[in-house]
Amino acid sequence: MSLDALYGNEQLKSKLAPVLEADRLSHAYILSGPQGSGKHTLARLLAAAMECTSGRTRPCLVCAQCRKVLSGNHPDVITVDDEKKKTVSVELVREARTDMYLRPNEGRRKVYIFPRAMDMGAPGQNALLKVLEEPPAYGAFLLLTDGAQRLLPTIRSRCVELQLSPLETGLCTRLLERDFPQKTGEQIASAVLRSGGFYGQAKTLLSGGGELLPQTARFAAAYPARDALAMAELLVPMERLSRDQLQPILTEWLGLLTEALAVRSGTPAPTPEAAAISQSRSGAELMSAIRRLQEALELLQGNISVGALCGALQVQLR
Ligand SMILES: [Zn+2]
Repeated sequence: MSLDALYGNEQLKSKLAPVLEADRLSHAYILSGPQGSGKHTLARLLAAAMECTSGRTRPCLVCAQCRKVLSGNHPDVITVDDEKKKTVSVELVREARTDMYLRPNEGRRKVYIFPRAMDMGAPGQNALLKVLEEPPAYGAFLLLTDGAQRLLPTIRSRCVELQLSPLETGLCTRLLERDFPQKTGEQIASAVLRSGGFYGQAKTLLSGGGELLPQTARFAAAYPARDALAMAELLVPMERLSRDQLQPILTEWLGLLTEALAVRSGTPAPTPEAAAISQSRSGAELMSAIRRLQEALELLQGNISVGALCGALQVQLR
């Protein structure tokens, strides 16, 4: 099986093939590439390869260890992130560092995945550095980032860098034609172009995630970031909209938060926006925001002024 599940990226796969064959994966990798480039897929495959117990080419994807990794249930594959925080705190890195010295529960290795390594500040990266220098033999790190240059040179010098590439146009087109048989050739070609060949991004565009209202796109950025200023800059001008203009915007926000809540309970994320919100907001926060938006939509049918409604939302959607 090996890395076939990662599309394209032939150069990267051929670089890893002999290492996988010999079962000699390094203890630290940086996986870099933009959103939708396959970093998460590659991280899962590498973690599976590290735990795989089949004698065949790793990862086999069928043994019990591989399956646990792929379903996110392997006790020795640990994600280091706090969905509620904007950054990956130094405390979290220290916790992982301490945990690493406890032997694996059942796996061959203990694998720490940092899904947004670029959001670790310098103190976090320095804390990580100590264990990167002298990890226990079973310790492994997968650092995911949108750019390797966002990590300290000292970290980079201790990791093997794996840069994800866009898919070649023909391959990206064929995959999208398979996934979206109902779309026209023009729609597919446009998605290939707009995504720069990054398959995950192209799928999002074709799923409709690329056609959000401008206010929703801004909400989808400000809300998970807990950016009160951006939220104010978004909502204050909305006070001047008519009821008919405001209604579809709030409906779309409600849809987005409902999707994010579903993602939190295990549904695959339909859009990166829903994924981002689900990662940074708790279920209770989402439920409360959903209720506020439902109330706002009801009030909008009545006499309340749009100005008052937007003002209230600014406080309620903090
Ligand atoms: Zn396996």
